[in-house]
Formats: sequence, C-alpha cells, structure tokens
Amino acid sequence: MEPLIVSWLRDRYPLSDRLCVGIGDDAAILDLTDAPRAVITTDMLMDGIDFEVDRCGPHRVGRKALAVNLSDLAAMAARPVSALVSLALPRSADLDFVKSLYLAMDRLAEEFGITISGGDTNCWDQPLVVSVTAIGHVTACGPLLRSGARPGDVIVVTGEFGGSILGHHFDFQPRVAEVLQLHREFELHAGLDVSDGLSLDLARLAEASGCGAEIDLDLVPIAPAARTLGNQDGESALQHALSDGEDFELILAVPPDSARRMLREQPLGVPLTRIGTFVTGSGLTQHRGAGPRTPLIPRGYLHGSDG
Ligand SMILES: [Mg+2]
Repeated sequence: MEPLIVSWLRDRYPLSDRLCVGIGDDAAILDLTDAPRAVITTDMLMDGIDFEVDRCGPHRVGRKALAVNLSDLAAMAARPVSALVSLALPRSADLDFVKSLYLAMDRLAEEFGITISGGDTNCWDQPLVVSVTAIGHVTACGPLLRSGARPGDVIVVTGEFGGSILGHHFDFQPRVAEVLQLHREFELHAGLDVSDGLSLDLARLAEASGCGAEIDLDLVPIAPAARTLGNQDGESALQHALSDGEDFELILAVPPDSARRMLREQPLGVPLTRIGTFVTGSGLTQHRGAGPRTPLIPRGYLHGSDG
C-alpha cells in the first residue's frame, strides 16, 4: 500500500516557496533563509495509551498527533512552518483509514499555514503509532523558554483546566496565534504548554527557572468537564483542574506591569487568568485568598509509569 499512500500524499502536498523538495525523494528540503533559527519538536502517540482508534477513529488521531506538536511550538512562542508524519499502521488499516488520518492533519496544517513535508509509513502486526515532528521558527521576539520566570512574575494561564479526557484532549486548539500575539504585545519571561497537568507542569516551569510558585486555588479556572468528571468519580473539580493532563493551555510567567495590562485588556478570544505568583525558594505553595499557605504536591500524568 505504501506507493499508493506516497502518490496520494505527493498530490496533496505540492511544492511551495518554503518546500523546495517534498514527498517522494529521500528527504525534504525546506527553505528557512528568512528564519535562521529553527525550533523542532516531536511527539509520538500510541493506540491504547494516547487514544483508542477503534473508539475515536483515525480522524481524531490525526488531528491530535499534529495538534500536540503545534502546542509545543506554541509553548516556545515559535511560528509553525512544517511537519513530518511517521505512521506505524496496523495491517488492518486500509487507504481510507490513512486518508482520514491525513485529512484531519491536513485541515489543521492549513489552518496554521504549514506544509507536511515528509515522513515514513510502515505496516506491522501491532496497534497504530503516529509520530509527528514539527518545525517552526523563532520570531523577532525570540523564543519563550521554561527557565525565564523570576520571583515576582505573575502566573497567567490561558483557558480552563481539567476533564480533558471527556473530549478536549482531541479537539483542543493549539495556542499558537495566542502566544505570538501576547509575545508581540507584552513582556513574557517564560512559558510552557500544559500536557501533563497544571500543578505538575507549573512545578516544572518553576524548577527550570530556579524559583517557587504560589497558587491561589480560588483563582484556578475550572473547565465544565472537570465538574462533570468530578461528579462521576467523586474527586473535586479543582483536583481535576490541578492534575488532569492534556489541557494544552499555556502557563506564562509575566512581569507584574505587563500582567496588569494584559489581564485588564484581555486581548485574546480565550480568557487569560492570574492564578498566582512566582516566588523565591522552590516547590509549589497553595492558598485560598488571604488564607494560610501550605505546600502543594504537584500531581499529573507521568510518562512511562503508573503515576
Ligand atoms: Mg510541552
């Protein structure tokens, strides 16, 4: 089936100013002369771990596989350019299955103005594995790293948290346009995208920056899905918001003056919320309003473990 897939893909992804040599040769050639600093990220999704293709279908898998990579580029404040897609297909997959997977990615690629420039397709007697590598470039504002937060910076988040397993983990919007706009209009010190849980990823950002973080639990924006899930499993909606994975929202470290203006102006279609402050020291601290401060043990999804 591979020649069929390759010829179908070659028709779908023609050459452009950016893509000098595309699908069908041994490797792709991208023109990055206007953007000399490339940002590269890769993410592998596996049937049975990240999705169940029998239940969700190849379309949602394709979209998610590209979207998680775009979210990582957003976390770096990089503008997406291209992606490479590698598939390990179960032998039961036919051309329609592959097309459905690609068409979903295609729609997202078009929305974000990127080309699919290559990849690899193999078949095996095991479940579907999709690996996408995305390439972006740093804008004139520079990259956004995890290590730039300073004590006194405000913790600002996009969107809402928790309960993504009920559907959001498939249909989330990578915050690319949002971060590029914020980076242009406001001073940002650090950022990341929440893939493994708000508290766990916040702890990682604080650690990378060599500081601590205080979070006001009353301010955490809780997704309706977190409440739905909490009603089902008895855990609090707040706990879901703090520890569920795959929200794919951004945590940003914003200096106070910039944060005040950003929160007042609310320049995005998605809400921006202050949930706390980066502080000297290490680890996470929780409180409610003016209430007492206690340690917050970060919880979330730990890859490769049962945690
Ligand atoms: Mg990330």
